[in-house]
Amino acid sequence: MTRRVVVGDLRVQRLDRRNGLRSWTIVWPEGTVHEEADRFLRVHDGSGTQKTYAYYLVDHLRWLDRECLPFEGVRLRDLERYMGVVGADVRMPLGEPWREGKRPYGRAALSTAAACLKGFYLHQSSLGVNTELGEKLDRTRLPTRADRRRALLGHVKTEMPANPLAPKGRYRRHPKMLPDGARESMTEAVNSARDRLIVSWLADGGLRIGELCGLHLVDLHLRQDAACGECRHPHLHVCHRPGNPNGAEAKTKHPWKTEGGTVVGGLVKRVSPAMVHAYFEYMTSEYPRGAGHGMLLVQLRGPAAGQPLAPVGARRMLARAGNRAGLGAVKPHSFRHSFTSAVLDASGGNLMIARDAGGWASAAMVDEVYGHVDVHAPAFDAALRAAWGEGR
Ligand SMILES: [Zn+2]
Repeated sequence: MTRRVVVGDLRVQRLDRRNGLRSWTIVWPEGTVHEEADRFLRVHDGSGTQKTYAYYLVDHLRWLDRECLPFEGVRLRDLERYMGVVGADVRMPLGEPWREGKRPYGRAALSTAAACLKGFYLHQSSLGVNTELGEKLDRTRLPTRADRRRALLGHVKTEMPANPLAPKGRYRRHPKMLPDGARESMTEAVNSARDRLIVSWLADGGLRIGELCGLHLVDLHLRQDAACGECRHPHLHVCHRPGNPNGAEAKTKHPWKTEGGTVVGGLVKRVSPAMVHAYFEYMTSEYPRGAGHGMLLVQLRGPAAGQPLAPVGARRMLARAGNRAGLGAVKPHSFRHSFTSAVLDASGGNLMIARDAGGWASAAMVDEVYGHVDVHAPAFDAALRAAWGEGR
């Protein structure tokens, strides 16, 4: 093992390839590729995982360097200590502080780091490096009841891969989540097709109230294979428009534009069959003819009937309906927590799926630190459908 004298830090490097795709690797301070990291990251070429793993792996490699640990000398205990250093709850001395001034990883990041490290060392082991550690990491466990519940996503497995580095325990339910059955009782408690739309679009779309009230009819691509070409399933585009007459404004500001009358870009979100159903019910029974503003949600009564509905109006409606349903003043954001939690459950805790299920920026316009899931992958589709209660 040759050790280098390192001045500066290992870093993640983006590579722009001729075919317009990007890939990610790790380089030494002077610019040469870190061979072991590069070989592992290439396994994930062309996926968002590659970028994510590059950032988690570089953190770990810097630590190995600081600890003067060569790959062939790393033991399971070292990896557990590393997980402790970045924020996991472990009972052992951690040694010198690491990543000072940075926040410890949260549970989400710890899960991803554990998956990345296991993948990296199994890959090393497959190449004959530190096979002893590889065997310790390559464990399986019997399926739990939660696994069997998720089995609707695929075949029932007789054993599950286990990761000794993964954080222990279950995902906590978010304290602001709605109780089970709340969506059904809210649907019964509301008094109009518009309000049934609001409930179903918050529950299945994971939309923020400002995003929902800010939608224009042109943002909705509810047919298969819409002209924008950005998603083949029914979907909508959340577009930041500062000048909406009802003051509703999307929080995310992904670039968007209109191309030949078709909205392109923004934040793309999948739309469930129940959302499409609620939309047609509302449009055919309550939506005013000739509404010049083109916005989706309108006021139904009073002198301003037909004018766009402001977020505060939607909030009040939900609070009143929640009280009638015996749920207290329901807040729009609690639907979003429930949606995210349902996707997490259905995807086996896959945080990238959970995040992108709430919307993704079109690939051409994305420039964030971490990668994205393949929104056309069967696992993404299956997680959304399970969260929507399809197949139940
Ligand atoms: Zn579209």
